[in-house]
Amino acid sequence: KRPFDVMSVREDFPILQQQVNGKPLVYMDNAATAQKPLAVIEAMNTYYREFNANVHRGAHSLSDRATGEFEAARDKVRAFVNAPSREEIIWVRGVTEAINLVAQSYARSTLQPGDEIIVSQLEHHANIVPWQIVAQQTGAQIRVIPITPDAELDMAAYQALLNEKTRIVAVNHASNAMGTVNPVKEMIRLAKSVGAVTLIDGAQGAPHLEIDVQDLDCDFYAISAHKAFGPTGIGALYGRKALLEAMPPYQSGGEMIERVSFSGTTFNVPPFKFEAGTPAIAEAIGFAAALDYLSQFDKAQLKAHEDSLLQLAAELAPSVPGLRPVGTAKDKVSVFSFLVDGLHPSDLGTLLDQQGIAVRTGHHCAQPLMECLGVPGTTRASFAFYNTREEVEKLFAALQKITRLFI
Ligand code: PMP
Repeated sequence: KRPFDVMSVREDFPILQQQVNGKPLVYMDNAATAQKPLAVIEAMNTYYREFNANVHRGAHSLSDRATGEFEAARDKVRAFVNAPSREEIIWVRGVTEAINLVAQSYARSTLQPGDEIIVSQLEHHANIVPWQIVAQQTGAQIRVIPITPDAELDMAAYQALLNEKTRIVAVNHASNAMGTVNPVKEMIRLAKSVGAVTLIDGAQGAPHLEIDVQDLDCDFYAISAHKAFGPTGIGALYGRKALLEAMPPYQSGGEMIERVSFSGTTFNVPPFKFEAGTPAIAEAIGFAAALDYLSQFDKAQLKAHEDSLLQLAAELAPSVPGLRPVGTAKDKVSVFSFLVDGLHPSDLGTLLDQQGIAVRTGHHCAQPLMECLGVPGTTRASFAFYNTREEVEKLFAALQKITRLFI
């Protein structure tokens, strides 16, 4: 393994070597999307320069090469999540499409009036709205796991919600708005005890945590490449084979069929049954390059560095008058969400941007969570392994300056 050294790692990310508003860029919006190492940019570039062709139509050499690399990328995702077989990895646009696929294919075809879908108060809209729509379509009900004041899931309340009507439990591995890491393995075990199918939204899991779908024993696990240092426009859904085989197609057209005639059409086998149309080929290849890049390192070393940044942020928080951290769970990925008394998050975001510091402000696509916390939104600094301690210090120096000038 390549030993982790933050300064050498930063050199792999061309975008980090720039000034924004006259200051060196401090990129702390990684939970929204992470930056891409040169290896990812070059893998996509090489595809377009050297072997751009459609896949699975292999009458010529370019198409053979494109198909080979595209399917090799699927194998890399399989290994990344430790799925038992490559047929269980479906290409999607990202977590949003993955959850819509499961909602419209699996849930819509199996839910009955009165069935229950459990989500949590900590979910991103992508893991709420698709379930609301399928609940309306089928007569199912949504039940919500409440949170504690630290923004951890209330596990006793979760257990009380589980019953023989629970069909689906869909929760995130880690919260994008608060960073809370949820005890998903235990939650899956409990869901199985009532026969519910489980979906884990791994949007924030993939960039920070070990993912082992066999160890978790989940039925579905969804990831987005762009949050894990790969390109936008691609992600993957792991689905348990027996479920995928039984599920109806999601979108339809080319590629997902076995045979088409006007008297009837038969469908391809998973994963192709769920992959209508020409896929995002360059993006799949770029995603594989991101996974190769990550696999150079010991993931625990990356996590330890990110944890140390989060720890430093917690230590520096009291140095800013009126700063209130939001979301203080014990187990977190490197997301530091906060409020500053007297300053609206969006103004704070603009003032930080003037210092070259990129953060996210607002509701983080988690309006029910913000409502529950009684806040309009937060300012969120989310760290990746390429962030440095100096950058965290710069963030807090900038916050101190802003509070001196504006409050
Ligand atoms: N779930 C969580 C926890 C997320 O952070 C995000 C992205 N912010 C999503 C789902 C949606 O992912 P995407 O936009 O890549 O589809």
